[in-house]
Amino acid sequence: MSPSQTDRRRLLAAERYLWTPAGRGETGHAALIFPNSYAVGMSSLALHTLWRLLSEAGWEVDRAFLDPQRGYSLEHEARLSDFDLLAFTCAYELDYLHLAPLLEGGGVPALRADRGPRDPLLIAGGPGVTQNPEPLAPLFDLLFIGEVEPVWEELQAALARSAESKQAALEAAAEIPGVYRPDEPPEEPVTRQVLREVNLFPSASVVVTPETELSDMFLVEVGRGCPQTCEFCLARQIYHPFRPRSRDNLLETIRPALAVTPRVGLLGAALSDHPHLLELCETLVAEGAQVSTSSLRVDALTPRLAQVLAAGGARTLTLAPETGNESLRRRIGKPIAQEHILAAARAAEEAGIATLKLYFMVALPEETEEDRLAIAELVGELREVAPRLRLEVGVSPLVPKPHTPWEGLAMPPVAEIRRRSAQVRRALGKLGIASDIGSARGGLVETALSRGGQELGPVLVEAGRRGGDFAALRGACREAGLRLEDYAEAPEGKPWKVVGVRGCRD
Ligand code: SF4
Repeated sequence: MSPSQTDRRRLLAAERYLWTPAGRGETGHAALIFPNSYAVGMSSLALHTLWRLLSEAGWEVDRAFLDPQRGYSLEHEARLSDFDLLAFTCAYELDYLHLAPLLEGGGVPALRADRGPRDPLLIAGGPGVTQNPEPLAPLFDLLFIGEVEPVWEELQAALARSAESKQAALEAAAEIPGVYRPDEPPEEPVTRQVLREVNLFPSASVVVTPETELSDMFLVEVGRGCPQTCEFCLARQIYHPFRPRSRDNLLETIRPALAVTPRVGLLGAALSDHPHLLELCETLVAEGAQVSTSSLRVDALTPRLAQVLAAGGARTLTLAPETGNESLRRRIGKPIAQEHILAAARAAEEAGIATLKLYFMVALPEETEEDRLAIAELVGELREVAPRLRLEVGVSPLVPKPHTPWEGLAMPPVAEIRRRSAQVRRALGKLGIASDIGSARGGLVETALSRGGQELGPVLVEAGRRGGDFAALRGACREAGLRLEDYAEAPEGKPWKVVGVRGCRD
């Protein structure tokens, strides 16, 4: 048995199911693909949600990841070319570089133009696709914009036709709101789909496993959208409006899972804005759950919430002050006072939380050296007010995202971003605090793939074939007559306008 076959069996053996897959293949055979590792993919709620939806629609669903067996499914070790439907969820731009190795490893030509009627039907969705489907348009037959649940009935009926005829499935799907069919570009922007009544569709883990980044944790989405006003934020635009799930709905989803695992991860862009967060955490902890949360808004981390989370086993909390300077914070639309950040750290320490993770950004508009040094000053103050807390600091460059008020910003050159990040690292180093500095090159690639057009599709394929690293991407760009750096300039066109997002500023 090969090492990858051993890994595959180990991963499957470690999984504990919270449901019984319904689909037996009466609709067809679908591979649900996450273009990164098993550990990352199984931490994606979108993957769990689509798995359930496809299975309930009669598909026999296999999952496929970048590893352990690239190009083959996890469940049956089937080649991707053997499926009727390949459904991708694409969350991160850097994962686009994994698409060609996955597809070609599974015997499926990566570019749509090279595929024929007997190849599987390829569809992709997810935040990457919703923000700007154009770099992926040369690879996929269909791209989905927004949240799939409101049109799921029609979409799954259209996709079901792929088992008999790919062309019939394409034609039926193209009529459905939110579907972008790149070989027949739409006259009007494709409208982002929004699930109005979130309580009707749960979004939660269907399997738990110790083999993910969030080991043995039952993940549940507490709501969609965010009512806050951060100018740089893509989530605020593409998940607008804010829709918290009801407390009863969440408890109904979570309680059965507690029989399988006590670990519950509450996820949501605006977790802290959920009107019943404290009450929900109190109830779950009283019922024996260990509750973890995604990043909390600084001013929402009250002493009581910190105590409840600590009582539920939380050892680490995450906050994103974004900048060290209060006035810059206000200018970027995140009006959080310094005193609230200090109070949150104090509350965490007093509750017995061991580690506070803090996220900051560099390369913000009008940012000065003083602003960057203020990050270290703030971290230094936090250490003074909460000396027993271990502080972990992450610093990443701003990526100007489509559909945000900053979509047209120029990004500083890589060397300049590195210089600014190094200033922060040195200032933190003087305090004896290590920092995790995000890659400036990674920020450039993310910017290019967020703002680029269809010209990047063949480049992604070629770069993926060459190993998918920065050098491969730069080389593939050069051969196509493109420069990654050009995407950092203020864009002249806006390819992402093929999508009508109607975010919170529209
Ligand atoms: S609070 Fe978070 S999710 Fe909400 S707008 Fe700001 S960055 Fe985005």
